[in-house]
Amino acid sequence: MRLQCEVEVVSRLLPSCGLRGRGRGTRALLSLGRPPGGARGGSVYLMVCTARDRGGARYKVQENIEQFFTRFVEEGKATVRLREPAVDICLSKANASNLKNFLSAVRLAHQGTNVSALPLSALVPAKTSEVEKPKTKMIITSKRDYPLTKNFPYSLEHLQTSYCKLARIDTRVLCLKKLRKLDLSHNHIKQLPATIGDLVFLQELNLHDNHLESFSSALCNSTLQKSLQFLDLSQNKIKALPIQFCQLRELVNLKLDDNELIRLPFKIGRLDHLRFLSAARNKLPFLPSDFRKLCLENLDLFGNPFEQPNPLVPNIQLKIPLTLLECAARATLNYRLPYGCHLLPSHLCEDLEVAKTCQCGGACLSSFIQITVTMNLHHVAHTVVLVDNMGGTEAPIVCYFCSLDCYSEFLDDTYLQSSCDY
Ligand SMILES: [Zn+2]
Repeated sequence: MRLQCEVEVVSRLLPSCGLRGRGRGTRALLSLGRPPGGARGGSVYLMVCTARDRGGARYKVQENIEQFFTRFVEEGKATVRLREPAVDICLSKANASNLKNFLSAVRLAHQGTNVSALPLSALVPAKTSEVEKPKTKMIITSKRDYPLTKNFPYSLEHLQTSYCKLARIDTRVLCLKKLRKLDLSHNHIKQLPATIGDLVFLQELNLHDNHLESFSSALCNSTLQKSLQFLDLSQNKIKALPIQFCQLRELVNLKLDDNELIRLPFKIGRLDHLRFLSAARNKLPFLPSDFRKLCLENLDLFGNPFEQPNPLVPNIQLKIPLTLLECAARATLNYRLPYGCHLLPSHLCEDLEVAKTCQCGGACLSSFIQITVTMNLHHVAHTVVLVDNMGGTEAPIVCYFCSLDCYSEFLDDTYLQSSCDY
């Protein structure tokens, strides 16, 4: 019979410091049994194994117990007072029903009645895993300390392996299903395995300073959608993020600095939990039109080659008359008709996903007029890091128009506004 709990053995001969049994226990494994080689019918011992003493201390049980203190047994606490040596064995943090079973076995062994019917165990040293606190955090910051032969503790919730020159993510790490925080910064990782998406509790993923060239759509479709709040992809070689990226709806903090991004995710406005966004020192010529839906605390877009917007030089993709496909797509979106891969070919579904929205609120698929206008970033963020060394907080943002009417209405408004300014 064995019991896992916390134990403090207090001598009654030494002056008590008044802290007896008040949560100062260490994790322990208690066994009730006979020592190996002990004769049948020989003495029964209570053995207490701790991480410091895995071999364990043995106490004779028969006619050696002065008193049981079991008032708090329902809370998993009890004390066994021995005669010889004069110690109190204070047990805490035990499972209450296991504790009751264990104590009743100890009581029977003490009385010496029916000992042969007791579920005795072999008194063998405890395994490390039985007496050590499960490890939840591990930080490795050099290749020298990276475990090559030993496994990572299964209980890890926070793992950092930085400066280890890792070229890929270790499959042993992907088996740590309790991970909440994974920091793989400062390595040489080129690709992310889709199985990261199996880490269902992962909230923070740090991939700062690696060799990533992409972030796969499989990860965007994984359970990370429900868990991932912090993602650091800064200092990599990423040129674009997939359309599906904005399905990571729980993201609060996204770092994309020092990459080669030529555009931000088209539907970035869907990240409605996002509060901190940085994409400094990329290759962004302008921001997607959806960007104005963001509501951020902090935004950093410093050092991007933003183009000078000119609303009077439109990119005209308008094809008149509209194709049948364009008409059908606009109607589907404007009337909010339900669609999905069970109803439409998947490429049409994808096209509908990236449909543009005109200033009038109407949808357009591949027939539109596109311009860039200036937006003050304070419209979407409380704190804005300057976009250049000239003190600017403005950036070009894309606008779409579904028809010439909508475009000319916009021009009229702009023209009227600027003529009012004079
Ligand atoms: Zn319109």
